[in-house]
Amino acid sequence: MNKKALHKISYGLYVVSSMKDGRYNGQIANTVFQITSDPVMIAVSLNKQNLTHEYVAHSRKFSVSVLAQDTPLKFIGRFGFKSGRDINKFEGVNYREGVTGVPIVIDHAVAYLEAEVVSSIDVETHTIFIGKVVDADVLLEEPPMTYDYYHKVKRGTAPKTAPTYIGEVKQEKKTYKKYRCKVCGYVYDPELGDASQNIKAGTPFEELPDDWTCPVCGASKDDFVEID
Ligand code: FE
Repeated sequence: MNKKALHKISYGLYVVSSMKDGRYNGQIANTVFQITSDPVMIAVSLNKQNLTHEYVAHSRKFSVSVLAQDTPLKFIGRFGFKSGRDINKFEGVNYREGVTGVPIVIDHAVAYLEAEVVSSIDVETHTIFIGKVVDADVLLEEPPMTYDYYHKVKRGTAPKTAPTYIGEVKQEKKTYKKYRCKVCGYVYDPELGDASQNIKAGTPFEELPDDWTCPVCGASKDDFVEID
């Protein structure tokens, strides 16, 4: 079996949010899909270990925010690589309360859906929650993030993108090694630098300041390994 075939399935990138006992939590999910149109039903697949899973299982309701293509890595990292058991993910984030009471993340969202769980399916490590959509709206007329775009462009594993391409750097390319974050998989590419932390294109990993951290998950330089 060639599991790479699975990588050819298209997905988006979403924040799925819910609540429990007045507390909010949300997480990044790529598995959100519409199942029926009348009534409108959607499904999400959540890992049982995640706090959001606990919240959805308890409250039987959730919201889905469809992230824009230009969503910053740091925002994705906040919802994707941190746990709501450690931080309040909604602090400093724009959200609104939905008709069911669940939080709806507004920042970087092109649209949202709010649903009440009508059924759930146990699939070993995950639960698929099927929800009847009770509210939805479009927030921005911008392209949504696809999972493919996120992996290839956002996480820096793609061919160089034009706006950050610097010809001079390219000639020295062989001396510039890429480093991967062991925690989240983000790749630091010296040719791109890290604009989110004012690291100029052409800065070797070794010359990053000691307090530089992974722009996605916040891991330290020690958590990075050299890659080819
Ligand atoms: Fe990371």
